[in-house]
Parts: sequence; structure tokens; C-alpha cells
Amino acid sequence: MKRKAYDAVVIGAGPAGLLAAGRAAMLGASVLLLEKMEKPARKLRITGKGRANITNMKPLEDYLKEIHPEPRFLRQAFASFFNQDLVALLNGMGLETKTERGERVFPVSDKAWDVAEALVAWAKQQGVEIIHHARVENLILEEDRFVGVMVAGPGAPERIDATCGIVATGGQSYPATGSTGDGFRFAGQAGHRIEPLRPSLVGIETHPAWPGARGLSLRNIQMTLWIDGKKQGTEFGEAEFTEKGLDGPIVLKLSRRIVDARAAGRKVEVSLDLKPALDPQKLEARLQREIEKRGSGTCGDLLRALLPPQLIEVYARALGQSPAAPAARFTGPIRKKLLLLLKELRFEVVGHGGWERAIVTAGGVSLKEIDPKTMASRKVENLYFAGELVDLDANTGGFNLQIAFSTGWLAGESAARKLAL
Ligand SMILES: Cc1cc2nc3c(=O)[nH]c(=O)nc-3n(C[C@H](O)[C@H](O)[C@H](O)COP(=O)(O)OP(=O)(O)OC[C@H]3O[C@@H](n4cnc5c(N)ncnc54)[C@H](O)[C@@H]3O)c2cc1C
Repeated sequence: MKRKAYDAVVIGAGPAGLLAAGRAAMLGASVLLLEKMEKPARKLRITGKGRANITNMKPLEDYLKEIHPEPRFLRQAFASFFNQDLVALLNGMGLETKTERGERVFPVSDKAWDVAEALVAWAKQQGVEIIHHARVENLILEEDRFVGVMVAGPGAPERIDATCGIVATGGQSYPATGSTGDGFRFAGQAGHRIEPLRPSLVGIETHPAWPGARGLSLRNIQMTLWIDGKKQGTEFGEAEFTEKGLDGPIVLKLSRRIVDARAAGRKVEVSLDLKPALDPQKLEARLQREIEKRGSGTCGDLLRALLPPQLIEVYARALGQSPAAPAARFTGPIRKKLLLLLKELRFEVVGHGGWERAIVTAGGVSLKEIDPKTMASRKVENLYFAGELVDLDANTGGFNLQIAFSTGWLAGESAARKLAL
């Protein structure tokens, strides 16, 4: 069966596709949104640990510092639809939002699910037709012009004609949500260069790993990245011990550089400073005071005064002591080692969480071949790209979703305006 022709077909009903489809329909285009999963926006529904950190209220210049590799590319997309526009759109749908620490915005309900449902309802209200279980197999291109898509069906693949096509298929992390990287193949089909794809915002596997401390989250610590023995950056904040290594905000922040350095075959280490507020002299003085106070107790008693309970065993082992041994053993060399373990606890990075656990995909459709004013392909007429499949990614804090929303909005608007010409 050959379906009727649409003004625009949008591939992928994630945040970028929903905004692209809704905006194009709002401007009068007939829009079909194709989603291969049984439900739209599966990834959005699990964002922010189920709470959806939908955007960040920081000003534009601060945003640009959080984005890789070419933040200026987004100036136009952000000018057309930014954080306040998103909040206004959601509030207008009856979805209340709140701003938390670090200017991060969440729905008041703390439910990512509510954001997904509101956006789907909004897109439908604009007149978007959504089909689920509709996996696009290929773009149909004629003489460097987009003319439609082939969609897998129960029988033979079905052809759907449309004047414009917007590819919003996401990256390739968390593939169970539907983002399996299909859009990179479509972009390749249209002659676009794909910048190397790497998992980013991902936890690391370390040697040694401390599974005994799994789940322990340490706040106000400092992590330093070492590449081939040279210090390459520090982050201050929170990290968490996992079964195989480390995760949490400061790990994610450094993960882009960690993944790239490992891929280049370099030796990567991280070190933790558990007492960044104390310089070595002050820490030594503090240790001296603790030893004087607890000298008649055990090593365990002394360590407990300095560390969370989950770390007592591992620290005692690393110092070659039993927690039950007398604290009086903390003489010169052991004391020195403890100071080092508190200020510069080193781990070699031996792996990372991979595509299954990465929050975003770094790399993607090259920015050089997309017009930043419209998100249009510079290779194929009437073809647009939006969202994570474009070679843009950001730190945590709501920036990645805002990139998807902004580029989606601009792509939908540009397609609709082109149709009106
Ligand atoms: C666990 C987790 C937590 C996150 N938390 C946050 C957060 O709190 N804040 C933040 O800013 N970012 C967060 N992110 C990142 C954010 O979710 C993504 O950057 C964003 O979802 C990208 O939007 P998108 O529309 O480009 O792609 P996606 O959300 O990946 O949507 C793409 C859609 O396209 C569909 N699709 C793919 N191929 C086809 C095909 N061939 N045919 C039809 N449909 C297809 C997919 O099924 C999917 O529904 C998180 C990511 C993860 C994995």
C-alpha cells in the first residue's frame, strides 16, 4: 500500500523528533512521525534517574562552555528555542517545572514520564500523526533530493512519500530504548560524513576496583585525571563506587577525555582527593590530633574518625593493617601512606561502561555538512537532522535534552518554512 504524501516525515519520536514534528505541524505542515518502538520517547522517560533534568536555566554563554565539540554551531538553534521557551511550552501544557541546584530544571512531579506524555499530547494537538512500531529502513533520495522513506512492515517494506524528511533517531547509547544508531546509516546514505562515535558520560572500570564499597557516594571530593602520568584536569564534586570502578557526576565530566585517551592507547589513571579542603600540612596536623585522641584504640577507630564506614576495611588492607590492630602502629611510614591514600588515591582506568551504559554519544553527523541556521543537510535537498545524532554532546545538567529540543524545533520550523515558499 502506498500512503498519501506528507509535507514532512520525521524519523524518531524522541525529544528532538517530537519538537520537530510539533513545530512543523504548528506552522501548517502535514506531518507524519515514525517511531520504531511501541511507545514514543522511551529514553526521555528514564532521563535524570526517572526525574528528567529537562534543561538548565544558565545563560547562553555558560551553556556554550558545557558543549562539545563546536558549541557556537548551536547559537541559531538556541536563538529560535531556548530554556525559557521550553519551560513556557511545558507550563502551557499544564506541566509545572522547578529549578534546583546548579540551575537544573525538573518537572514538579519528579516524573520524566509526565514530560514524555505531555510532549506526545502536544504534538498530537498540533496535528501530528504518530505511528509506532514503524522502523524506517532507508531514505528514498532522487537526484540529491529527499522524497520519502521505506518503512519495515509485517510484509514487504512500505514506501511513504514526503516533501521533507527530518532524521531524529538519536545516538547509539542505551540501545534498548530504540536509539541503535540507524540515523548514522541514513546520513551516510545521503553522503554525510560521520565523526567517530564514542560513548560519553559513562562510568569507568578501575584497577583496583573496590566492590566492597559499592554504592558509597562521596561528596565534596576532587578527582584528577592523569594521562601517561601527566595531570590533565580536575573536577570537584560527587563520585560513587561501583562493582567495577567509579561513577557519578565528576567521573562523567571527565569521561569524554578518558574514553578518547584510552582509545588512543594511552595510560589513563584517576586519583581521588578525599580531603580537598585540607592541604597536606593541615591534614597531617589533623591526623596527629586523631592519633593523640585515639592512640589507645584500634586502627579501625582511627580510620573511622577520617573515613566513611565502607572504606575502613579497604583502607586498613591498603595500609597492611587489620582494623583490630592497635592504633599505636600508625607511625612514620604508615602515617605517610595514609596521608597519600587520603589526598591521592590512585586508580588505573581499565575500561568503561560502553554503549549499554553511556548517557550520550559523542561524535555523529558532521557539523560541517549541516546548515546551523536551519539544520538542513548541505548534501541533500529537503533533508534535516536534529538531536543527538548530530556531532554535539554536552556535560550533565540538562544540556543534552535542551540540544535535542532546540535542534528539533529549528529543524521543524525550517522544514515548514521551506514548504511555504
Ligand atoms: C539513562 C539516561 C539518562 C539521561 N538523563 C538526561 C537528563 O537528565 N538530562 C539531559 O539533558 N539528558 C539526559 N540524557 C540524554 C538524553 O536523553 C538524550 O540526549 C536525548 O534523549 C536525545 O534525544 P533525541 O531525540 O536526539 O534521541 P532519542 O531520545 O534517542 O530518540 C530517538 C528516537 O528515534 C527512534 N528511532 C531510532 N531509529 C529509528 C528508526 N529507524 N525508525 C523509527 N524510529 C527510530 C528511537 O526509538 C527513539 O525513540 C540521558 C540519557 C540516558 C541514556
